[in-house]
Amino acid sequence: MRSVGKDIREILVPAGYARAFEVGKGETFTVTDVEGGQIADLVAFNALDPAEKLSSSHTRLALHSIRFRVGDSLRTNLRRPMMEIIEDTVGTHDMLIPACDEQRYIVDYGVKDHRSCVANFEEVLVPWGIVREQIPDPLNIFENSAIDANGGLVNLPVESKAGDHITFRALMDLVCAVSACPMDLNITGGERITDILVTIGINL
Ligand SMILES: [Zn+2]
Repeated sequence: MRSVGKDIREILVPAGYARAFEVGKGETFTVTDVEGGQIADLVAFNALDPAEKLSSSHTRLALHSIRFRVGDSLRTNLRRPMMEIIEDTVGTHDMLIPACDEQRYIVDYGVKDHRSCVANFEEVLVPWGIVREQIPDPLNIFENSAIDANGGLVNLPVESKAGDHITFRALMDLVCAVSACPMDLNITGGERITDILVTIGINL
């Protein structure tokens, strides 16, 4: 993490890896697609009690939608507002699909020893005592999924371009982790894996 100004911290999430960080209640954090076409998986926990965590399913019900927009609040598994979307330059994100893990690459692609978002999260959350079984389904920032007329789940190419970003305001003290998804075997991840930038503490 590096300080880039008064109360502003920057974290570069290297392609295929994850980084974890704390965000205070009222602070914002921005997730930026540095080169374009990169998915960033996000998980978040209540810093005071990691049993409370970001929940895609509770958020979908609260919003009555499979999508979230500026002004929406994402919910925890205790149905409380956890973070608010305050800026979004893309508008296509996913909260239906689980994070990739070792089994995704083995079962669906026959590839062993591939990096994965779940293993990435497990690695970076060690300092907070958070283990794999506690890791919730992620928000897949910049992932472009859709439901077709027959109810089918469709993966579409990522639409984010270099510099596209989404900004959240923390509504409680948070421990967050962002993974620059290492998926390189289907169209959802774009043609190559690239870096993600997280900027914390900008007041908008
Ligand atoms: Zn992934």
